[in-house]
Amino acid sequence: MTDEHGNCKIDRVARRWALETIDEQLLERREAGASLRDLEQFFNRQVLAAAMAEAGIETVDGEVENLYHLLTDDDVSAGTRVEAESRLERHGLDPDAVESDFVSYQTVRTHLNDCLDVDTNRESGLEPTDGKNIVFKLLSRTESITERTIDRLRSSGHLTIGTPEVTLSLRVACSECGEEYPFGRLVDRGGCSCQEDDQASDSETER
Ligand SMILES: [Zn+2]
Ligand SMILES: [Zn+2]
Repeated sequence: MTDEHGNCKIDRVARRWALETIDEQLLERREAGASLRDLEQFFNRQVLAAAMAEAGIETVDGEVENLYHLLTDDDVSAGTRVEAESRLERHGLDPDAVESDFVSYQTVRTHLNDCLDVDTNRESGLEPTDGKNIVFKLLSRTESITERTIDRLRSSGHLTIGTPEVTLSLRVACSECGEEYPFGRLVDRGGCSCQEDDQASDSETER
């Protein structure tokens, strides 16, 4: 086999449409539990969105998803599909060319396994570190979006504040005893203190 790393169909299509952060996005979604078919759909929609953007087609929320559905789903009538394709053609996009850049979930699997070193055979079994990373990434994204939003509100004169420092803290409460933990600490300690009696009975002195 002469396959080079980073040169599967996904890599080539991603380069063609300048989907520069696609690998990070695929990995993030995979870590968060997305199936290969979810990722197939995600990737193809990104391709469609990029093609439409390049052709200067303005889209509203949900339109790319809907168009992708019309172009690819088996339950769509031939007439509806032709309509969807002619919408692209009117803007100078060749629907066949775009669709030939769509990938299958098998291609997604190959890309994950061979190019990104992700073992798709491993059945979930989420490790604490990965679990924390997924959530922490989300928190820091929310923090930066909040900072940017504050900046915009400042520049439009709706908000006055010194340089803002945004901190998001995530707490998790146990419904059985009401105890609250910062998310990271809860994952580190592996459970609520009220659940520990059974596991730690050896080291516990009797009252
Ligand atoms: Zn690849
Ligand atoms: Zn508890």
